[in-house]
Amino acid sequence: MVLAQLGGSISLAVEQMSNATIIDDNVMNQCLNEISRALLQSDVNFKLVRDMETNIKKIVNLHDLSGGHNKRRIIQKAIFTELCRILDPGKPSFTPKKGQASVIMFVGLQGSGKTTTCAKYAYYHQMKGWKPALVSSRAGAFDQLKQIATKAKIPFYGSYTESDLVRVAFEGVKRFKKENCDLIIVDTGGHHNQEASLFEEMHQVAEATKPDLVIFVMDSSIGQAAFDQVQAFKQSVSVGAVIITKMDGHAKGVGALSAVAATKSPVIFIGIGEDKDEFEVFDVKPFVGRRLLGMDYLSGFVDKIHEVVPMDQQPEVLQKPLQRNLTLRIVYEQFQKLLKRGSIGQVFSMLPRSCVELVPEGLEKDIEAAIESYVTMMGAMTNEELDNSDPKLITESQIERIALASGRPVTEVMGMLQHYKRLTEVKSKMKGEMSSLSQNVNA
Ligand code: GDP
Repeated sequence: MVLAQLGGSISLAVEQMSNATIIDDNVMNQCLNEISRALLQSDVNFKLVRDMETNIKKIVNLHDLSGGHNKRRIIQKAIFTELCRILDPGKPSFTPKKGQASVIMFVGLQGSGKTTTCAKYAYYHQMKGWKPALVSSRAGAFDQLKQIATKAKIPFYGSYTESDLVRVAFEGVKRFKKENCDLIIVDTGGHHNQEASLFEEMHQVAEATKPDLVIFVMDSSIGQAAFDQVQAFKQSVSVGAVIITKMDGHAKGVGALSAVAATKSPVIFIGIGEDKDEFEVFDVKPFVGRRLLGMDYLSGFVDKIHEVVPMDQQPEVLQKPLQRNLTLRIVYEQFQKLLKRGSIGQVFSMLPRSCVELVPEGLEKDIEAAIESYVTMMGAMTNEELDNSDPKLITESQIERIALASGRPVTEVMGMLQHYKRLTEVKSKMKGEMSSLSQNVNA
């Protein structure tokens, strides 16, 4: 089941459960059956799915809950926790540090998307101010890497004539270290199978380049077979992290993610398309929240404040725009203030406990990160764009420019504009309610 479809099925099952008049074993079991079916269709291992169901039933135990308990929330929270558990390897990856030369070696089978991913990884870091470089230590793939690197303006090294690819890797790393590059990415050879010669070649390149991190790149289409593939590579070279590609088009993506988690290898990024910015940091909680359960943290947060906090006590960031027409500049200024004061926590503390109990731990950080990212993207906009009140007027090429200048993916810029649109809708609804309220008061 393709990722969006899987997310749709899981969130629908949760929604149907939440909408039921009475929450009993029947309703909960139906919801869990739907979720399990969707996960199995995505090739998640049967035992993992069965354990998930058993754990949720253990956590929830409807018979022990009195009428006062919010059963819907308790079930939702248990589903969230268990989905996170399936996808969490429980082990962080080594993170290279900006400004300190790190060598990152990419390994994987041919066709998995390794060369494309090397370039995406380089581009992602370049946009964040790193100085990456690409080294091709792979027969017949130099042209491909050269093309991608030239397009993204990333320095590269390779050879058409040198047949000793280990030497090429060594020379490339040496050169870029001298040039003070802080992220030297080595693309290695790939075979169709896990042949002994592939592993031997990987060993030699690792010996010659002394990588700080070895990243294993794999295609999501293999689903739970990823478990054996990762284990085989781990036995041969010390794989420190995994990147799963083609999550955009394959039915077994979440099966692959859960299988990699079962090998205790951290997945650090996922590939979600062929373009250089179709690449996403993989973080378990936001992935489960947004992609699988369809939670829209930021909008949900804003809506919740409007729902439960009296108007005069709402934070300035959400009140002020009511007084004038909303523009991106107003949101930009208010978000900057919110970040400066570190007041997201305060806003949170204003919400009644019942509103935040479903919220996964760390949500504050997630919202803060989202707002930070919005501020970065808005900071890359022109005055004209910021003073615009209609996001539809921002063209595709402007979106691309904003993405490039802010170092965020195009999809994120589009998401930010969509959120802004939702905010304008909430505001105009509130304005309408406020004016009819004042009319009633004046009548
Ligand atoms: P390599 O042999 O492992 O180096 O694989 P390549 O980098 O040459 O990629 C093989 C094919 O997969 C190319 O057509 C890429 O454009 C495509 N590809 C790589 N990553 C992704 C991804 O995340 N999504 C999609 N849809 N295609 C991808």
